[in-house]
Amino acid sequence: MATIASRLQQVRLRIARACAAAGRPIEDVTLLAVSKTCSAASVREAHAAGQTCFGENYVQEALAKIEQLAELRGATRWHLIGPLQSNKARLVAEHFDWVHSVASVKLAERLSAQRPPHLAALQVCLQVNIGAEASKSGLAPADVPAVAHAVARLPGLRLRGLMAIPEPAGDRQAQRAPHRALRKLLQALQRDGLALDTLSMGMSADLEAAIAEGATIVRVGTAIFGARAA
Ligand SMILES: *Cc1c(COP(=O)(O)O)cnc(C)c1O
Repeated sequence: MATIASRLQQVRLRIARACAAAGRPIEDVTLLAVSKTCSAASVREAHAAGQTCFGENYVQEALAKIEQLAELRGATRWHLIGPLQSNKARLVAEHFDWVHSVASVKLAERLSAQRPPHLAALQVCLQVNIGAEASKSGLAPADVPAVAHAVARLPGLRLRGLMAIPEPAGDRQAQRAPHRALRKLLQALQRDGLALDTLSMGMSADLEAAIAEGATIVRVGTAIFGARAA
């Protein structure tokens, strides 16, 4: 069985090839290792292989892991990528470095108010329901500009950009369409005066398509840690 270190190496290679194909410098793309359902030992293994940024979906699970890995806290960055309920906002503001799944001004205001003053601003992305799928969380694209301008003003947060989880698509061209739509939305916000630099898009199955369309953070779980138990 492949080790986490060798899988990580494979993913880094895929990112490097996709950057080369897109004519982008490799430093443009950050690999976020999605460690949901993985043990603290797996995270430690990935960290020993040079991985510093980890993504989690569930607040309680993440907090337990962050605590088990306390000795690595200064050398790791924890990103919340799963849906966030307002009753967990304080814990998230206290323990995470990034939140990718902000989808309302109200939630952003809570995170901002509860970010401890001794910590750097919480880095946030707005989650966009880019395919307008009825079942998905995230903002409708039409609502993004107003929310972005409101969130950008909050003192405890730094709005960095947009995040999406497109429906799986078979071929590369079909995969690129939602990623392209998210990039265009970010570019419109930039033209509108917001200093944004982040497109969080692309997972194990479609990171090449996402990088071709400008992804700056790819969120990869399965390709690093193996298939998750259902
Ligand atoms: C689980 C998850 C990922 C990683 O998905 P893989 O297909 O395992 O790479 C990325 N983003 C979000 C929001 C996730 O929930």
